[in-house]
Amino acid sequence: MLERLREEMHQVVSRWDREHARDGMWREPLLAVASADDPLFSELRTAVAPDHAMPGDLLPGARSVLVFFLPFARRLGRENAAEKEFAARSWAEAYVITNRLIHAVNEHLEAVIRDRGFAASTTPATHNFDEERLVSGWSHKHIGFIAGLGTFGSHHWLITEAGCCGRLGSLVTTLPLPPTPRPSVELCLLKAGGKCGGCFKKCRYDALFPDRFDRHACYRQCLANDSHHADLPLVDVCGKCGCEVPCSHGIPKSSETG
Ligand code: SF4
Ligand code: SF4
Repeated sequence: MLERLREEMHQVVSRWDREHARDGMWREPLLAVASADDPLFSELRTAVAPDHAMPGDLLPGARSVLVFFLPFARRLGRENAAEKEFAARSWAEAYVITNRLIHAVNEHLEAVIRDRGFAASTTPATHNFDEERLVSGWSHKHIGFIAGLGTFGSHHWLITEAGCCGRLGSLVTTLPLPPTPRPSVELCLLKAGGKCGGCFKKCRYDALFPDRFDRHACYRQCLANDSHHADLPLVDVCGKCGCEVPCSHGIPKSSETG
């Protein structure tokens, strides 16, 4: 059943790439599964927020959590890195359209699961966080980690086998599925004990340092980008620390250190 869901997701993303995206916007999507009973979920109340939702809060009887990653086309990372002060126009547009794609993937997978006689509950793509504390009530990247999609980079993004440049979505279901294994090693070169730190050099907004992350400074820059692209819907994004670094579009190799 997981392969069927992967194939269905692939078809939705391919169709959107043909019909809605100029010059190609997404690469091959990834889909992973966490057991709704995974003990790491309860740790999110310590690691992320005391009121972080559990799978059963979103769907009574939940058995599995599906987490998907929609990797951006490489050109989007290049264009965002090349734009010096603000997020590139194409990066901001990709954020807007990918929010819609996440919704479409969620709806499609939910319909496939319902056809099989199981329930599913989708989760919002974004803006499900507390605007003062800037912590999430349903953190896709932490849930992606639990599902084995990747490990956290020094830039606090999830590094997947398709890199970190892209967007995550998730849904909770009563369909029992085997959980996907988590990577056995750190994918971030620095966290693995090697040399890199390319992401720190990319942040020019006093937010990301080797020893600390100022999430308020980061969010200020995200809001500055929203103001800069004021004609678009809300685009409180930046992403410079994940663009044109060794982990942008795949598992980083030590020969590519930033
Ligand atoms: S740029 Fe280097 S140090 Fe930063 S997250 Fe990626 S691999 Fe880790
Ligand atoms: S998203 Fe932007 S402001 Fe935030 S840490 Fe990365 S480069 Fe810095």
